[in-house]
Amino acid sequence: MIPKNKILRYKKLLVQNCKSCNGESCSKCISSSARVDIYAECEIPPTYWPLAFKDFSGDSNFKSLVSDALRDIDGLYDSGRSLIFTGGLGTGKTYAACSILKMASVSGYNSKYTTMATIISSMLSSNTDTLSYTNVLIGCDFLVIDEFDSRWIFPSEKAEQMFGSSLEHILRMRFQNGTPTILCSNTPDVDSILCGDFGKAFKSLRSKHMELVYVGGVDFRRFSENG
Ligand SMILES: [Zn+2]
Repeated sequence: MIPKNKILRYKKLLVQNCKSCNGESCSKCISSSARVDIYAECEIPPTYWPLAFKDFSGDSNFKSLVSDALRDIDGLYDSGRSLIFTGGLGTGKTYAACSILKMASVSGYNSKYTTMATIISSMLSSNTDTLSYTNVLIGCDFLVIDEFDSRWIFPSEKAEQMFGSSLEHILRMRFQNGTPTILCSNTPDVDSILCGDFGKAFKSLRSKHMELVYVGGVDFRRFSENG
């Protein structure tokens, strides 16, 4: 959930600071502003709105993999390729995943950013219609699930079961549909995140359908405010 004022102020400043029109409003800042509405709709965190992936200064193999994907977003969609970015904190996994979502969304693909904690709390909330919520996650063209980590302690066993079975269903349907899904995790052993049967089901699904991408390199946050 991104606050409305965050979006409004950001768009206002885009026009105010526009070098092409000095705040008069021109086609350039109008189109930047329209892109911001798209990013917000996808729930891409505002901190990633202004970042361009060409400025990424982390792991060079990772940079070239993501740059290739950005150059051919239709190809990525058609391939239905799904990825797990795993690596230490601040290596730029979210930066890369959000860059892909930004490119996909402005290219007309229905895209969504979420986190494991958001999915858990949405599913536990009595205000959520679980079926339509699940269908949003299944039905979008590109899905990023960030912070896929065991450090999120489930509030109850019921919550863990609910998350485990829903995630399995969501991933299974997305792989059948051939829609790109990206998970970002700080946990080196991604199969250890879910316990028991859900862990086994996840391992079998991801080994069949997802490429594991190890992201190395320096702590990106030392060079920028954004993780
Ligand atoms: Zn302008």
